[in-house]
Amino acid sequence: MLNILNLQRMSTEDGPGLRTTVFFKGCPLRCRWCHNPESISFDFQKEWIGIRCIGCHLCIDWCNQKAITYQGGKMVTDYDLCQLCMKCVEKCPGEAMQSIGQSISTEDLIYELMKDKAYFGLSGGITLSGGEALCQIEEVYNLCKLLKKEKIHVAIDTSGFVKKEAFAKISPYVNLYLYDLKIDDNEKHKLFCGVENHLIKDNLIFLNQIGANLWIRTPIIPNSTDDSHNIEAIANFLKLNDINFERWELTAFNNLCIDKYERLGQRWEYSETPLVMKSKLNNLVLIAKDILGTEKVILATGITRSEED
Ligand code: SF4
Ligand code: SF4
Repeated sequence: MLNILNLQRMSTEDGPGLRTTVFFKGCPLRCRWCHNPESISFDFQKEWIGIRCIGCHLCIDWCNQKAITYQGGKMVTDYDLCQLCMKCVEKCPGEAMQSIGQSISTEDLIYELMKDKAYFGLSGGITLSGGEALCQIEEVYNLCKLLKKEKIHVAIDTSGFVKKEAFAKISPYVNLYLYDLKIDDNEKHKLFCGVENHLIKDNLIFLNQIGANLWIRTPIIPNSTDDSHNIEAIANFLKLNDINFERWELTAFNNLCIDKYERLGQRWEYSETPLVMKSKLNNLVLIAKDILGTEKVILATGITRSEED
């Protein structure tokens, strides 16, 4: 069985063409700015969607653990008490209590994905994202083999923080990797992402050696990854190791995920952080091109703000 969050259809930002993206549950990194907090835990979770709640308060009575209380207009779950029995989710009349995550068989997932085949065309396909899809390597390997049989373009959006053997196993069935290189400095990487970056860099070198198609992605996060030294250092790493990437995207931070944190009952330390200045992002692209050459495809993506904003 595969543990996933959900499917996103008609996606245009997870690889070439029109795609269906499968979000997997569980990630080995702990990036402080994470835009998909519901994907971090490998365990299923639950959330409260306030707009659906009819205020019946029945969930408070149903919970044997006394984990739910009404506070400041919200149904708040104490996760130190909650045992994730999902009774409140199953019974909620407004479907305001929701579980996060589901187990699905490879066959059922393929059946769902095949419904979208018509819009993939020649350039689109399926992207496996997360969380970290490759943490479920055996199941994902079987899935990719079946997708290859169907002649479907498969991209994997990866943190790179998995064993090299996982990449070696799955690469014959993968058309493209969307590969995150967030912070070059190891200590800073540990501070902001929770793990060292040696494995991530080594795996990228390995994928390059076996001729994998690569899109490198660097999230540009204020006061975390957005300094010119970081972009210079990543560019120098790519140059020194002769990494043959198709494109490198510098993707501006956004705060569209604030409500995800609220629904999980969590605080997000970036909730007040402003968008990246457009001029700053463009300047980082110039710095990268200066090191790697203007003919390289290095793009600024995401929402920015201008001086007038
Ligand atoms: S049972 Fe559902 S609808 Fe009723 S108060 Fe609880 S969350 Fe809201
Ligand atoms: S999932 Fe179960 S234990 Fe957790 S709040 Fe709901 S009813 Fe209580």
